Amino acid sequence: MTENVCTQCGNKHIVINRKYNGQKLCSHCFKESIEKQVLKTIKKQKLITKNDKVLVGLSGGKDSVALLKILNILKEKNIIELEAVTIDEGIGGYREEGIRIAKQTAEKLGVKHHIVSFKDKYNFTIDDIMEYQKTVDKPQHACTYCGVFRRQIFNQVAREIKATKLATGHNLDDETQSIMMNYLEGNINNMVRIGYKTESSDERFTQKIKPLRKIPEKEIGLYVVESGFEVHFDGCPYAHESFRMEIGDFIRDATLKHPTIMYSTLNGFEKIRPAIKEQYLKQQTGKPNGTCKKCGEPASQDICKACKFLEEIQQQLGV
Ligand code: SF4
Ligand code: ZN
Repeated sequence: MTENVCTQCGNKHIVINRKYNGQKLCSHCFKESIEKQVLKTIKKQKLITKNDKVLVGLSGGKDSVALLKILNILKEKNIIELEAVTIDEGIGGYREEGIRIAKQTAEKLGVKHHIVSFKDKYNFTIDDIMEYQKTVDKPQHACTYCGVFRRQIFNQVAREIKATKLATGHNLDDETQSIMMNYLEGNINNMVRIGYKTESSDERFTQKIKPLRKIPEKEIGLYVVESGFEVHFDGCPYAHESFRMEIGDFIRDATLKHPTIMYSTLNGFEKIRPAIKEQYLKQQTGKPNGTCKKCGEPASQDICKACKFLEEIQQQLGV
């Protein structure tokens, strides 16, 4: 029978038993292993270079709190500059708590923090949009709108503060879900964009990076708790309606019997990604890297998606 002690240091208080690689770790060795793994990913995938100014999308959820804490190691070593931005989409009963924790985390780490709300910027909230959607025949999903406006705000803040990288807390579960979702939907366009970092030749886009991409969601939650940071585990009330949620449940179930399945999905995808990308990009040549005529943001058509949605919502809500 194997002993129930930390496989690194022999400490008897283990906090995790990693079924996928047989490691049992105490709190100290576990936290160290997470930090090492993330910093190794950053180095290997060339996500950050010295003197980068990194902006973290800080929702106050466990992923972004963990990300800020780990990137703060690089800030403290004077390798990077670090700031954080929280977006208040106006989701009652959910976002308030995230904002409180985001503020508290940034303060604790001494990181400059920006908060931008949909209400201030667009004069409506996601709750307003969804109230209206209840009255139509074919209601749209909240994430369809939310994602587009969030992206626009992230890009704008990154440009305003002259950030060179925009870091998000996507974890292994998120990435596996994205791969499966896009595959099942046949959405190759989105699939080729899944990666450690975005690759755009357009300088108006700040490069997006995902340093937590190889860390399972459960371990990120444990890392935050073991690090003594507060975290809210509640999910967005609109998320349960999504296809992503269904896929997430399926993968979580499969992981119980097959502990390595998320790693094999990600690793397998990384192997075929260059081939899909090459083949796909051949078909995409000639696609213009244009500018939205309304807002001046980068767009593939005359009017960007955010401006199209904005017009539609302003008409519907009369704002
Ligand atoms: Fe917005 Fe959807 Fe995320 Fe909720 S789950 S915050 S609606 S993108
Ligand atoms: Zn626009």
